[in-house]
Amino acid sequence: MKIYKIAAIPGDGIGKEVVPAGQKVLEALAAGCRDFAFEFEDFGWGGDYFRAHGAMMPEDGLDALRGKDAILFGSAGDPHIPDHVTLWGLRLKICQGFDQYANVRPTRILPGIDAPLKRCGPDDLNWVIVRENTEGEYAGVGGRAHQGHPIEVATDLSIMTRAGVERIIRFAFRLAQSRPRRQLTVVTKSNAQRHAMVMWDEVAVQVAKEFPDVRWDKELVDAMTARMVNRPSSIDTVVATNLHADILSDLAAALAGSLGIAPTANLDPDRRYPSMFEPIHGSAFDIMGQGLANPVGTFWSCVMLLEHIGEAGAARRLMEAIEIVTATPALHTRDLGGDATTDEVTRAVCRQIAATAR
Ligand code: ATP
Repeated sequence: MKIYKIAAIPGDGIGKEVVPAGQKVLEALAAGCRDFAFEFEDFGWGGDYFRAHGAMMPEDGLDALRGKDAILFGSAGDPHIPDHVTLWGLRLKICQGFDQYANVRPTRILPGIDAPLKRCGPDDLNWVIVRENTEGEYAGVGGRAHQGHPIEVATDLSIMTRAGVERIIRFAFRLAQSRPRRQLTVVTKSNAQRHAMVMWDEVAVQVAKEFPDVRWDKELVDAMTARMVNRPSSIDTVVATNLHADILSDLAAALAGSLGIAPTANLDPDRRYPSMFEPIHGSAFDIMGQGLANPVGTFWSCVMLLEHIGEAGAARRLMEAIEIVTATPALHTRDLGGDATTDEVTRAVCRQIAATAR
């Protein structure tokens, strides 16, 4: 029997509710299964760890994660710690430390979800956004001088390497090729940003030649927001820079009905390091500790985790269980207009999984 070692990092806020829920559904899948089991190790890193130790995670934290098959992450964010400290001290430290250069964000309108676009049927919105996850606008290069003086200066330098652009665009073409429509939109802003984004466009033209069976087009990021709203069915796979895709994927999640549903995978496609799976929402302190958190984004992230470790059958079973539950209005959490609790949704998904046990 294969035993998968999973690191669980709930982090902050509702991460502490949705990650244990994710562990429960994974355990439910493994229960009674002769093929695989999970061995979880919990890491209490995040805001509370920062208060006790002055850092979001230990200096040698990456070493503790290195031997894992995957990481299930909740969120990092704390009302009493600046956002750039929580983000760079934990999530980005792992993403960049493990060179998880492909951030993959599928978006679909799940059964039973009331999405805001009136003219958009469930089949009209089925996207995967690929975000460059290690450089670009979030390269972390920059600085401040003359702090506190009127002549203060601050810079954030966007860094794009040809190798970094090539690998993410190639990954996106490959992903597009594996989907039925074989279609990719390369998001750019090369009209205004005339150096790095022009190189980005050139690399897209070059890599596209390796994928003659993929139809592709180019869209400016501003026009892309309008296209997502007005012509959702014209989109399938999308690739964009770190910042552009960060924004577009929040819009995508909202168009699919709720931030609470959307999943993401931070992948090292070369499999040198563990990849990390997380809901796209943040710590949502306004609803923490009340059982209001929608765990579906985490469950869908678990589907991506299972696909990544090679358990496609279990991934399918979990996705089916999720869709049966979202199709039931009595099992909607408050963000979807219902009054079900995190625990009720989790138990319902576990019941569905048990019902399909082999
Ligand atoms: P952070 O600063 O960590 O990114 P945030 O609280 O600013 O977090 P999000 O957590 O991304 O931002 O979400 C914004 C709002 O959406 C939350 O305040 C919450 O009300 C709602 N929300 C987010 N995730 C969920 C969820 N899983 N279930 C229910 N509501 C959610």
